[in-house]
Amino acid sequence: MTPVAAPPTLRLTNFINGQWTDSPAREWRDVINPATGEVLAQVPLADAAEVNQAVEAAAAAFPEWRRTPPEDRIQPLFKLKMLLEDHLDDIARIITQENGKTFTEAKAEMRRAIENVEVACGIPMMMQGYNLEDVARGIDEMMIRQPIGVTAAIVPFNFPGMIAFWYLPYAIATGNTFILKPSERVPLTMRYVYELLEKTGLPKGVVSLINGGKAAVDALLDHPKVRAISFVGSTPIAKYVYSRAAANGKRAQCQGGAKNHVIVLPDADMPMATQIISDSAFGCAGQRCLAVSVAVTIGEAQKTFRDSIADAASKLKVGNGLDKDVQMGPVITPQSKERVESLIALGEKQGAKVLLDGRNSKIPKYESGNFVNPTILDNVPATSDLNDTEIFGPVLSLVHANDMDDALAFLERSAYGNQASLFTSSGSAARRFRYEAPAGNIGINIGVAAPMAYFPFSGWKNSFFGDLHGQGRDAIEFYTDKKVVVERWAKEHSRKF
Ligand code: NAD
Repeated sequence: MTPVAAPPTLRLTNFINGQWTDSPAREWRDVINPATGEVLAQVPLADAAEVNQAVEAAAAAFPEWRRTPPEDRIQPLFKLKMLLEDHLDDIARIITQENGKTFTEAKAEMRRAIENVEVACGIPMMMQGYNLEDVARGIDEMMIRQPIGVTAAIVPFNFPGMIAFWYLPYAIATGNTFILKPSERVPLTMRYVYELLEKTGLPKGVVSLINGGKAAVDALLDHPKVRAISFVGSTPIAKYVYSRAAANGKRAQCQGGAKNHVIVLPDADMPMATQIISDSAFGCAGQRCLAVSVAVTIGEAQKTFRDSIADAASKLKVGNGLDKDVQMGPVITPQSKERVESLIALGEKQGAKVLLDGRNSKIPKYESGNFVNPTILDNVPATSDLNDTEIFGPVLSLVHANDMDDALAFLERSAYGNQASLFTSSGSAARRFRYEAPAGNIGINIGVAAPMAYFPFSGWKNSFFGDLHGQGRDAIEFYTDKKVVVERWAKEHSRKF
């Protein structure tokens, strides 16, 4: 029998000037399914010359695109919304294959993506400026918003579909051109999305896609024609991108890592709190910047919550996110699994009790997957390094506080400030928490306080570098320059006509 040749591995291309373009990159990476270990594709790591081509094409497309009326600029977004709806399952399947999260989680992230497209369709209203007649006798003043030029976003692996949409729809609807650099670990989702974008009738050069790693990011940061950079990823890289963008005179918004706390008061509805906190801590295998990773219990909640969360977490079904009934998928790479397991060991060494141990997980049929089962560390000491380490895996730490003062002081000491939540049935405790908790996103009886597309999204402290957030009205501010015009027209002149 003639041996059947293995199918050639899919080699990804970049989308530059409206064309899928073979990359001359010398470096390539395998894209690997984290549940099966299967190689899905090879992704090029673009160099500065290739990034330059994308920026020049985006710069060339800008003058005509900015002159296109806002009403016409949003028409491709209406088409995109329909295409995303029609292909939701296909996109979600790709997300699960390259990222590992469950199919349901993948669909949910695309719903959030679509919401941003819908909100950006309101640009003809949202982009308006304001004016005032007679700021002095016969003199009028107006503020108009203008697009800024070529913009770029650099995004992480954990939401291959959603995060690009915090930026792309607003950038182009306001009249800018836009370049996306997805995570080299999960480039397939955006490849598919850009194939849909191609069908929307956007002029060439308005949106581009460059695959790559550090060299591509540095080239975007240094290119004089890139005016604005949006970044989402880990704190050290966010800080680096923010500094280098600022040194090059660019506008920048850089979201970093997180260590999110939830305070559980004894008066909380314990079954509801348990369900929601379990979803928050272990959903997406804990690889969410809004995942709860430390639960601070007060009073008798120490025992009631500890028992109920351990029970709930132990029942979660772990496996390939495409398989029926699976509730939690793998972490992204074998290195990530190793790191998460070593941090569990560190917590144990520094005095925490491993209440539920997810190390050495073996999932039948998926021996090559990067699985870590839900893990709970009880009584993590205040001195433990884990208190300031983003684990980014399915690990929940439990700590106990005497009262709200203690608990809030614990949150205050954290280097991060992405999200903080409270579970209670007391309105005054909730108000105090909302008022004092040191984080950019607050949840009251909510586990993942992800703002809707029409609200701004960003953390505080080391979770965010910049001032204008993603989404909503902040996105309009970020993607436009404000121009103020003061006008006087002499009466004599107007009388001539
Ligand atoms: P990462 O920082 O490793 O990578 C993010 C992006 O930066 C990728 O596109 C990557 O190619 C690029 N990059 C990596 N190293 C670089 C370097 N040395 N120089 C320039 N660019 C570089 O992050 P990740 O592992 O992909 O994502 C997980 C992290 O993202 C977590 O820390 C998580 O908390 C954070 N995150 C934050 C938010 C938020 O809104 N605050 C949202 C999602 C994820």
